[in-house]
Formats: sequence, structure tokens, C-alpha cells
Amino acid sequence: ACSSSDAPLSKRLDGKVALITGGASGIGEATAKLFLRHGAKVVIADIQDNLGHSLCQSLNSSDKNNNDDISYVHCDVTNDKDVETAVNAAVSRHGKLDILFSNAGITGRSDCSNSITAIDSGDLKRVFEVNVFGAFYAAKHAAKVMIPRKKGSIVFTASIASVSNAGWAHPYAASKNAVVGLMKNLCVELGKHGIRVNCVSPYAVGTPMLTRAMRMEKEKAEEIYLEAANLKGVVLKEKDVAEATLFLASDESKYVSGVNLVVDGGYTTT
Ligand code: NAD
Repeated sequence: ACSSSDAPLSKRLDGKVALITGGASGIGEATAKLFLRHGAKVVIADIQDNLGHSLCQSLNSSDKNNNDDISYVHCDVTNDKDVETAVNAAVSRHGKLDILFSNAGITGRSDCSNSITAIDSGDLKRVFEVNVFGAFYAAKHAAKVMIPRKKGSIVFTASIASVSNAGWAHPYAASKNAVVGLMKNLCVELGKHGIRVNCVSPYAVGTPMLTRAMRMEKEKAEEIYLEAANLKGVVLKEKDVAEATLFLASDESKYVSGVNLVVDGGYTTT
């Protein structure tokens, strides 16, 4: 019997090794914690070194975990070599890589009210470097180690900006559509090697990224999005996105590939 209400009924990732980019904060952090609770060895790759190290320290010192169950590697996803190092770190620490959660992302400086006529090319480049190039590099290096083993699950974080037309900042919306395009194309190539590729597309979650982009407190941002959601009274949390990602990462979704799993409480159906 379970001793605590949040203890998993079964360890759905037992024996698996996962790499999570952007794992030091927000959705990536919540997913790292959930994967860990489900028995995975987790390596988080991020540029926020202090945050990443302290997260791993606190999780490893909990009596439920062992010392190397979760570890941190510095990795700027815009740098091909850094991403290769992060994938190699996961393989050298744990012998293999089963799951890539390519999640690092930024909104950029442009906001929803920016006209195409005022696009800042530096901002556009930066958003694509992190959100798109970063996804390419992560998939490339993960595929190199997954192909010989003929299995693996790759999940990208896209966004509802990939399925709705609600006036997102242009660079961000275009970058997330590019991620979905990459996912679909990769699903064909990597499917031949037994590797599944999917996206998770969250509605607004009050992470540091969102509150920064909206220039307001988490609670206020959540209130605004709550107002717009279809499921009234429901505020999407990091953990809810992590649960969808857990499904895509685990063998329970073994015939699910090429899917953009929208986690938005029905928002984009309208
Ligand atoms: P967050 O800012 O809390 O987390 C993003 C993480 O990515 C941070 O730890 C950051 O340091 C890391 N990161 C940024 N640039 C990086 C780089 N160059 N190399 C490595 N790591 C880098 O934000 P979040 O909301 O958890 O965002 C996670 C993902 O979810 C992003 O891809 C974002 O676009 C997507 N998303 C978020 C929302 C939302 O409302 N929060 C909605 C839809 C999609």
C-alpha cells in the first residue's frame, strides 16, 4: 500500500535514464522530480548552474534517493558541443540514454503586441537558436546513442502557440511550429530505429519564463490565463505538464509517435 498520497502506484520509468534540457526550473524541474519518483536516473542540462546543482543536491540528499540518481551538467543548448557533452555525461554516468526531454526554451524579448514590421532580428535569432537549434542538437546527439540500441523516446516541449492563433509573439510562435515540424519529420526517420518522437504543448503555466514575459507576478498571470481557459477553475501547473510528458516518455505510450500532445484544458478547441 502507498504510504503517502503522492507516492506513485508503480514506478513507470524503472531502470530508465533520462536527459532533461532546461531541467533547472519550471516544467523541466517538475518533470525531473516526477521522473525521479518513477525510478528513472535523471541528468538535467541547463545554464543556471547554481539552481541546477542545488536542486540535485536537495533531491539526492532525500532518503528516497541515492547519490547519483539525479545529476547536473552545464549545457547551453545553442552550442552543439555542449549538447554532445550532456548526452555523453548521461551515457557515461548511467550506461545508456532512454529518454530525451528537450525542453529548454525562451520567449524572447518580443511580446504579443509586436508587429512583424518591428521584428528585432537579434531577438528572432536568439529565440530560434534556443528553441529550434537547441532541439535539433538535442535530438541529433540523443539519436546517435539511441539508434544503436534500437529504442528510445524523445519528447520536445512545444507550446499551444504551435496549434492556436491567439497572437503569440511571432518569433516564439514560429519557433514552436518549427519544433513540431522537426518532431513529425524525425518520427519518420527515427521510427525505423524503434525510437518514438513526440511533443508536449502546454497552455500557460506560471513558471519564471511566463512571469518574466508577462512582467507580472505568478498569481496574476495564472489568474489571467484561468479566465481564458475552458476548464474553469483549473490552473495548469508544472506537474500537470510533467504527467503528460511522463506518459510520452514511458513504455505505456509505446505506439504513440508523431503526436503533439496538447495540455490546455480544451483552450485551443475554441
Ligand atoms: P523556465 O524559464 O522556468 O525554464 C526554462 C529553462 O530553460 C530554464 O531553467 C532556463 O535556464 C533553461 N534555458 C534557457 N535557455 C537555455 C539554453 N540556452 N541552454 C540550456 N538551458 C536553457 O520556463 P518554463 O515555462 O518551464 O519553460 C519550459 C519550456 O516550456 C519552454 O520550452 C517553453 O517555451 C515551454 N512552454 C512554457 C509555457 C508556460 O506557460 N510556462 C507554455 C508553453 C510552453
